[in-house]
Amino acid sequence: MFRKMRRVKCELKTETAEKILREGIYGVLALAGDDGYSYAVPLNYALDDGKIYFHSAKTGHKLDAAARNEKVSFCVVTQHEVVAEEFTSYFVSAIAFGRIRIASDTAEKIHALELLADKYSPNVDKNLREKEIARVNAVEIMILEIEHLTGKAARELIRDGKIS
Ligand SMILES: Cc1cc2nc3c(=O)[nH]c(=O)nc-3n(C[C@H](O)[C@H](O)[C@H](O)COP(=O)(O)OP(=O)(O)OC[C@H]3O[C@@H](n4cnc5c(N)ncnc54)[C@H](O)[C@@H]3O)c2cc1C
Repeated sequence: MFRKMRRVKCELKTETAEKILREGIYGVLALAGDDGYSYAVPLNYALDDGKIYFHSAKTGHKLDAAARNEKVSFCVVTQHEVVAEEFTSYFVSAIAFGRIRIASDTAEKIHALELLADKYSPNVDKNLREKEIARVNAVEIMILEIEHLTGKAARELIRDGKIS
């Protein structure tokens, strides 16, 4: 069902693709948006046990899109260096495909907020962190269950043994 990469020499091992997702700072979530237009929206995220967690306001385009069509993809880029003289760039990226849902279980939402706080606010005062997590009912959490994950890098990085 999911496509093979055309440039096999650029394909990374699955564990490397997982590492890219673990280390990425943000990614772009691609959803089926309004009126047949795709909607690609940049988001922070946290990864845990094959799931990607996103924090969201209670309403908006991405929530409507996720509710309408659960099939999405999420792209993360962790490296990109333009190499002008070679007319290329040395990049490292991963794309996850899967189904997204809006969490309804409070425990699951709290787990997501904890993961996001661990990732983005690791050294913030404990009381502030607890206050933020206590806002659980004021936010939505979207959960993407990964079905297919690929990693790709510029072939020069693979050739030079910088990534595999
Ligand atoms: C690096 C990064 C990380 C982010 N992390 C988060 C996050 O973790 N959680 C979160 O909720 N939001 C995050 N945002 C903001 C996010 O991109 C959206 O703006 C926000 O989630 C609102 O989305 P929506 O579909 O509900 O917006 P709506 O206001 O409903 O969208 C309506 C229209 O506004 C436009 N629009 C919305 N967002 C953007 C955008 N980012 N850039 C340009 N046009 C836009 C589009 O045309 C869209 O169709 C992040 C943004 C960046 C750049």
